[in-house]
Amino acid sequence: MSSKLNILCVGACCFDIVSQVLKYPLEDTDQRCLDQHWQRGGNASNSCTVLGLLGAKPTFFGTIADSHEKRFLLEDFAKFDVNTDYAVIHEGCDSPASCIILSAATGSRTIVHSNKNLPELSVEDFNKIDLSAFQWVHFEGRNVTNITKMIEHIREYNKSHQDGSSITISVEIENAKHELESLIPLPDVLFVSKDYAMFKGYTNKEETVEKIQAQTIPGCLVICPWGEDGASASSSDGQLVHSSAFPPSQVVDTLGAGDTFIAATIFSLASGCTLKDSITFGCRIAGLKVGVIGWEPLR
Ligand code: ADP
Repeated sequence: MSSKLNILCVGACCFDIVSQVLKYPLEDTDQRCLDQHWQRGGNASNSCTVLGLLGAKPTFFGTIADSHEKRFLLEDFAKFDVNTDYAVIHEGCDSPASCIILSAATGSRTIVHSNKNLPELSVEDFNKIDLSAFQWVHFEGRNVTNITKMIEHIREYNKSHQDGSSITISVEIENAKHELESLIPLPDVLFVSKDYAMFKGYTNKEETVEKIQAQTIPGCLVICPWGEDGASASSSDGQLVHSSAFPPSQVVDTLGAGDTFIAATIFSLASGCTLKDSITFGCRIAGLKVGVIGWEPLR
């Protein structure tokens, strides 16, 4: 295995059209934007971008439509040194796509998403992967039934690789959906978004990690980023650690801030850093990201 961190990110890839506006528009008005560009998006896809920027060896594993956006998406992965050999291409369907408005006044991102008919990853797709190439597998929390089986498959693999070559499993639960709860007791490292936490009625990052920790497997790390409030994390031995955010001089693009935080935190944990240092690194890199549009300026 190469000395670079081999990390497999499982989840979605999306085609984004990003418009930067001075101020969020009023409904039924017509305005010219400051700038507009195409961007590759999707949580797992974004985390791969950041891992590539950090010098890891990320592999994207997800479905991609064989539509006219495919070329742009695959070329953009390549620009950031992301391996797409395992991507599953589906013919005869549309690419998931998003129209995104970035407001210069507030740094907010407003997303309107479409996913018409691109199939989710199957367990059969996953079983074709040579797991020995990876030391960490990160799952975006979607496609719950299938990723539960994929995680079981890695646990089986790990049983016969107790010699230090076992794979660390992380999961992010992000969306306000009840079905994601069943993923909580599965990974070694669990990322819980502010959106999911608020959906569960938790009011801050400290409360979130404490309440979620009680539902995880022994030894699991629970990590919760909370926008400009930074991030908290806990381990099952009761250790609770925090990091403040690292705001740039101007917040211009928070699209993918969470994916950036996750990628940088995984990078640091996989490099052997402590939980506190890892979430602090996650916040530092996410702080850099929200100060620039997209990821191109960070290349
Ligand atoms: P998401 O993209 O899932 O909504 P968050 O808003 O929780 O993610 O942000 C993830 C991380 O990005 C935070 O922990 C923080 O480090 C950083 N971040 C997000 N927004 C800001 C901001 N306005 N200023 C500084 N850092 C930010």
